[in-house]
Parts: sequence; structure tokens; C-alpha cells
Amino acid sequence: MSNIAKIVLIGANHAGTAAANTILDNYPRHGVVIFDSNNNISYLGCGTALYIGGQIDDTKGLFYSSKEILEGKKAKVYMETSVEHIDFAQKKVFAKDSAGRELSESYDKLIIASGSLPIRPKIKGIDKTNVEYVKLFQDGQKIYQLLASPDIKRVAVVGAGYIGVELAEAVRRRKKEVLLFEAAGRSLASYYDDWFTGEMDKILSGNGVELHFGELVSEIKGGEKVTGIDTDKGSYQVDLVVMAIGFRPNTGLAAGELETLANGAYKVDLHQETSKSGVYAIGDCAAVYSNALEDSAYIALATNAVRSGIVAGHNAAGTPLESAGVQGSNGICIWGYNMVSTGLNLAAAEKAGFSAQYTQFEDLQKPAFIKENNYPVKIRIVYDKKTRRILGAQMASYQDISMGIHLFSLAIEEKLTIDKLKLLDIFFLPHFNQPYNYITMAALSAK
Ligand SMILES: Cc1cc2nc3c(=O)[nH]c(=O)nc-3n(C[C@H](O)[C@H](O)[C@H](O)COP(=O)(O)OP(=O)(O)OC[C@H]3O[C@@H](n4cnc5c(N)ncnc54)[C@H](O)[C@@H]3O)c2cc1C
Repeated sequence: MSNIAKIVLIGANHAGTAAANTILDNYPRHGVVIFDSNNNISYLGCGTALYIGGQIDDTKGLFYSSKEILEGKKAKVYMETSVEHIDFAQKKVFAKDSAGRELSESYDKLIIASGSLPIRPKIKGIDKTNVEYVKLFQDGQKIYQLLASPDIKRVAVVGAGYIGVELAEAVRRRKKEVLLFEAAGRSLASYYDDWFTGEMDKILSGNGVELHFGELVSEIKGGEKVTGIDTDKGSYQVDLVVMAIGFRPNTGLAAGELETLANGAYKVDLHQETSKSGVYAIGDCAAVYSNALEDSAYIALATNAVRSGIVAGHNAAGTPLESAGVQGSNGICIWGYNMVSTGLNLAAAEKAGFSAQYTQFEDLQKPAFIKENNYPVKIRIVYDKKTRRILGAQMASYQDISMGIHLFSLAIEEKLTIDKLKLLDIFFLPHFNQPYNYITMAALSAK
């Protein structure tokens, strides 16, 4: 059993909460001190679009922890208190609360879970009123309230990654006009190949989202408030701009002290330990190990935050535990159309230098004689031509096919080849699937 330690956590959203719970639940002898600059803990950002779009009627369920819950497990919790400096030599953090009071805490082990910040592009007019970002619960509340105003009629959503696409749907559900701007030629380009995004783009425009793909936003127009948006292709009148062009790791706190990736994310080993012994970094502020790339990468997801928090919690508390790495598995559901992916899409695999190849198949989920709840499913599996290692998979359907992608996540983690899937035992029952399963069919047709 390791000695009693005082473990300080900076940040208590998904990563910090997972680490705190791991330590408090399994190692109650250790002292845990938690700082968070925000006034809430464990906000599920994935619920923001559902809330803004009016698809959920109570926001309480978007939180699963609180100061009181953590204090109930004997943690010392400072809310609305920002850590402003870390003295790594003295093992001490210095913080300031919302009233300007300064305080400090020493530590034996430090876990940094400071997360990410929305990227703010340096364009003219970006500081105008009604230019909003989507990150905190408070951001969601603000956009929800703005959309209630009859003055807000036309909304520009900038960025067609998964948050921008979800927000475009949400704003349409509030009966406003939506213009979706994206520099790439299609939505969701980082996660899916165009065989999939073509369908998504049709669904978006079919539901009234005005698509402006291949357009670069250059200026936000107006006086104090937004009145329009300019791109390299045109000028548009809008009353609200929602920026959703991505996130950057929030790592200013230890800049120059800890090793980072090029984008600023703290480098960590498989124990989540940074370049300084006894200092861990987790969640959106840290790099992850991508099993598809076989290298460090930046993949900001709540799932990665939780798992990295669990790993760091055990290690900081004295039990060595290695991360299994990640695949960046993700999903999206827009007007009932489900897309899920894991690992690398074709473009990402090519960009990473693999001689990437894919195999794909499209079929009904169940035999055609099943007339109810039976939709076409698309699957594409990306693999390396030389080693035949599976690098990624994408699936899409109105059917809920989400559980299928986990098979590919494990396949990538376990470095399986495409050939290993050809004769995999996949059960058949007409209520669920077909005797010639689309996974088998895609694998069998791999060149
Ligand atoms: C709209 C939206 C939808 C999303 N949907 C999904 C989804 O469907 N699935 C998914 O897996 N992921 C999703 N994500 C991503 C997911 O929310 C993030 O990956 C996750 O929040 C990362 O958790 P974290 O704890 O590492 O960082 P953050 O959530 O960024 O939290 C960091 C915490 O640290 C605190 N902090 C920062 N600096 C300091 C400091 N100096 N002192 C004290 N406290 C500090 C902050 O106040 C904050 O509470 C979504 C994100 C958004 C914004």
C-alpha cells in the first residue's frame, strides 16, 4: 500500500470528476483537493444541442456530479476558483477565487484536467454582441435565450464539425433560418468519407439548413451587434453567429514547464504522466495515444476524458495502470440519421502516410421480408494495404447501428487485419440482421 498522499486536481469537468471519483471511491485514505474556475461540475456538452433545440425539457439531467457529491466523499472543493500558477519545484498551486481572494495548496501528486477552449478566429468583428461559442452550460443557456427573441431570425453557424451540424439542427428546430458555413467542401469531413457525408448534407439541406460549404468566413458585420457575415464568396444578413470551429487545449498554465504536442496539448505516457514525475494530465488538455496512428494525437472527447481520468486516478493514488489507447470512436444523430465511426477515415489514413484501402457494403439491416423498422445500412472499413491492419470504420443508417462500431474499435486496438473479420462468427436472426451480414460481406470483398 502506498503512503497517504495529498492529490490536487485542477479542473473538475469530465476528466477531473473521473479522476476524483476513482481516488475518492478506491483510495479514501488519500486527501483530494479540487479547483474549478466554473460554478458547475460534470456538464454534458453533448446535451447542448438537444437543450437548445427544445428536445429535452429539463437541464438537470445534463449534470451527474456536483461540489456537494464530491464533498460528501470527503474532497475539499474550491468552485469558481482559478489556479493561476503552479510552482512545480515547491509542489504548490496558487489560485484566486471569484471575490479576488488568493489561496494556495501544496500537493504530493498533481492532476491537471484544465480541458479545452473554443477556437476564436482572428477575424474582424469577432467581438461583436451575438457572436457566441458552444462550450459551457452557460453558453447553451445564452443561445437558448437568444433564440427565444423574435429579433433573432437568421443564424449563421460557423463550422460543420459534429457540434456545428448538431447546432444547425437545433436552431432549425427553433424555427429560425440557419446558414451553415464550412471551409471544407462538406460536413463532418474529419470523421467521415464523402460516401457518408453526402447523405448527411442532403438531410441537412432537406431540412432547410442553407449550406455554404467551401466558404471561408472573413468578417462579422454590424455595429455593436451582429447584422451580417462576409465570406470569400458572399455577404449574408444574419442576427446571430454561433462559432463552432473547434477546440484548443487549455494549457497556458504550465506553458514552457511541461512538454507538449505542436497544438499545445500536454504530452503524457500511458500512465497519463506528463514530462514531470508525479504530474498527470487528462482529458482535453492532454494528448492521447491513438492505436490507429500508433502515435500521440489530440482527440478531444468526453469518453477519452473519462478514461484518462480513471487511469490517472489509479496511478496518482499508487496503483500502476496503463491506458489502452483510443480509437476516437464517435457518433452523431441528425434528424434521426445515425452515423458512427472509429479510427481513421480514408482521407485521414492517407494523410497519416498509410497506403490506405477500403472495402464497403450497403444492404438492409434485416431480410427484406421484415417490413417494419428495417433500413439500409452503409459500412466502410479502411485498412492498410501492406499490413492489412484495420485502421478505421464508418457506418450510417436510420437504424440504430451504433453498437456495431465497438467491434471495430476493439479490432483497431487489437491490431486485427481485415482478413480476420472474413469468417468471424456473427449470429443471425431475422429480427436483428441478415444471414449474409454486411460486416462479413464487406470483409469478404476486401481486395
Ligand atoms: C457542444 C459539445 C458537445 C459535445 N459532444 C460530445 C459527445 O457527444 N461525445 C463526446 O465524447 N464528447 C463530446 N464533447 C466533448 C467533451 O465535452 C469534452 O471532450 C470534455 O468536456 C472534456 O472534458 P475535460 O474535463 O477534459 O475538459 P473540459 O470539459 O474543458 O473541463 C475543464 C474544466 O477545467 C476547469 N479549469 C480550466 N482551467 C482551470 C484553472 N486554471 N483552474 C481551475 N479550473 C480550471 C474548467 O472550468 C472546466 O470545468 C462535446 C463538447 C461540446 C462543447
